[in-house]
Amino acid sequence: MQQVDPATHRLWRDLCGPRLTITGSCSPCPRCTGICPTGALKRDGRGSAKRLLFNWMRCTSCGLCVSFCKASAINLQPPPLLDPSQPLPPLA
Ligand code: SF4
Ligand code: SF4
Repeated sequence: MQQVDPATHRLWRDLCGPRLTITGSCSPCPRCTGICPTGALKRDGRGSAKRLLFNWMRCTSCGLCVSFCKASAINLQPPPLLDPSQPLPPLA
């Protein structure tokens, strides 16, 4: 399989990738990782070192994780190509 060069990969992510950020009110629980149908959200670490990992290539912007988070800790923005209100990144 042919590899995509890093610059093309970044451009692809910036145009097509959903943006998901987690706020400080997250206390890692099993809700969002359990409901995510694609495995885009995973938990990592143990105890106080627990954290969430996000794989944008698996995320479909379905919004289930946002709905299921009791702490309202997830901010999800759809990919810029699907949201006309977002500016497109500059093309190199
Ligand atoms: S559901 Fe909310 S509080 Fe729980 S791990 Fe996910 S973002 Fe954090
Ligand atoms: S928006 Fe949907 S696919 Fe993306 S991380 Fe949340 S639950 Fe998973």
